Amino acid sequence: MSKAQQSYPVQIEQLLLQGGRVLDPQVNLDKVTDVHIMNGKIKKIGKVDAKSFKGQIVDCQDKLIIPGLVDMHVHLREPGREDKETIETGCRAAMAGGFTAVCCMPNTQPPIDSRSHVEFIKERSEGFLVDVHPIAAVTKGLQGEELTEMGDMTDGGAVGFSDDGWPVKQASLLRRALEYAKMFGHPIIDHCEELSLSEDGVMHEGFVSTGLGMKGIPSISEEITVARDLLVAEYTGGPLHIAHVSTKGSVRLIREAKKRGVSVTAETCPHYLVLTDEAVRSFNTNMKMKPPLRTDEDQQALIEALQDGTIDVIASDHAPHAIEEKETEYNTAAFGIIGLETTLGIVMTHLIAKGLITLEEMIQKMAVNPRKILRLAECSIQVNASANLTVLDPNIDWTIDKTTFYSKSRNTPFDGWPMKGGCLGVLNKGQLFLNC
Ligand SMILES: [Zn+2]
Repeated sequence: MSKAQQSYPVQIEQLLLQGGRVLDPQVNLDKVTDVHIMNGKIKKIGKVDAKSFKGQIVDCQDKLIIPGLVDMHVHLREPGREDKETIETGCRAAMAGGFTAVCCMPNTQPPIDSRSHVEFIKERSEGFLVDVHPIAAVTKGLQGEELTEMGDMTDGGAVGFSDDGWPVKQASLLRRALEYAKMFGHPIIDHCEELSLSEDGVMHEGFVSTGLGMKGIPSISEEITVARDLLVAEYTGGPLHIAHVSTKGSVRLIREAKKRGVSVTAETCPHYLVLTDEAVRSFNTNMKMKPPLRTDEDQQALIEALQDGTIDVIASDHAPHAIEEKETEYNTAAFGIIGLETTLGIVMTHLIAKGLITLEEMIQKMAVNPRKILRLAECSIQVNASANLTVLDPNIDWTIDKTTFYSKSRNTPFDGWPMKGGCLGVLNKGQLFLNC
C-alpha cells in the first residue's frame, strides 16, 4: 500500500469489478464473478462481457469484494481540534483503511450534545464517499449531570449516545439514558472506567507497572463499571454497547449477561488483540491509551470472545493527537492512538492469516454487526442494492508507514509493522476510491 501519491475518490457511472471473489455471508454469497455497478447501484452479479463494457473496469482477480466496512468508534476532532483531524481528513483515512462508514464520538470542542451539533457533522460530511454517523453525548457538555435531548438528536441523525472519554458517571443518569435509548432504538455506548480506581494511572496495573514504577490502572476499574452497566441494562431493558473492552473479567461479565438475555453488545480494538502491557517497557507513548494495554491472559480472553460472539465488533478507537501531546514523557503524554489506516491490516495479518477468526467473522464484526447495533441501513451485496463495497487484496505485502497516512496525526504504535493483506479500494454513493 504505497501511498506516496495520495489518491482521491471519483464519481463513476458505469463500473465493472471484474473476476473478484464476491463474499457476503448475509446473503450466502461466495463466488468468483463480476459485479456491474451503475449509478451507485449493483446492476448485475455475474459474468459481464468486458469487451463491450462501456465504463471503468477494475481487475479484481485474486481480490475480495465484501460489504463496505464500518468503524463504529472514531474521534474526528472537528469542531475544535482541526489541527489533529478534520471530518474530511478522517474520511480520507477511513477510505484508505477500507471503511465506507465511520461513527464519530462526541468529545469534540464543543461536544456534540445538541441537534444543531449533530446536523453540523452531517452537513460537513455530505457528499463524501464515507458516511459519517454522529454519536451524540449522553449528558450536556459531557459533564455527567444533565441528560441531552436524545430524541431530538436522533431525529437530527445521531445513531448512538456516549460520553466516551468518560464513563456515564451516575447510575441514575445511565438508567434514564437507557430508558430513552430503548424508545429510540439507538444504544448507549459506554466507556467503562471507575475514575476513583484508575485515578492518575498511565498503564495497566500489574507486574510490568510495578517493575517500571509506573502508576497503574487496574482491570477492576473497567470491570466494576461493566458490571454496573450490565445491571442497569438488565433492569431497564435498554440497549447497551460496551466500548473498547480490554479485560478478561469484562469478557466474563458480558458473556454471562448475554446468556441471561441482557440487551448488550461489545467491541474491542486491534491494539488489545496484538499488544500487551509488555510493550510499555519501550516507553513509546503510542502504547498509551485508555483502557490500557493489558496482559497476555486478557488478550487470549478477547480473542476467545471474538470467536464465541461475546464481542460483536472490532473498532479502531481512532484518536488523533498532536505530536507535542505524544512526544513527551510517558506520564504526561495524551491517551489514545489512531487506527483507521491500520485496523484492517492488523486484522487480516494477525487474526485472519493466523486462523484466529475467519473472513466471514471479520465481515460480521466490521460490517454487519455495527450496522445492526446502530440501526444503520443494511448493506448487502445484492442486485439493486446500493453498491457499498470494500475491495480487499488478501495477498499484498506492505509495511505500515505513518508518514504516508491520510490522517493528520501520526500517533500509531504500528509504524514499521509488516502487513499481509489490505484495502485495494472502496465504493459508496457512486464514488470509487482506489489506493494507489
Ligand atoms: Zn473511550
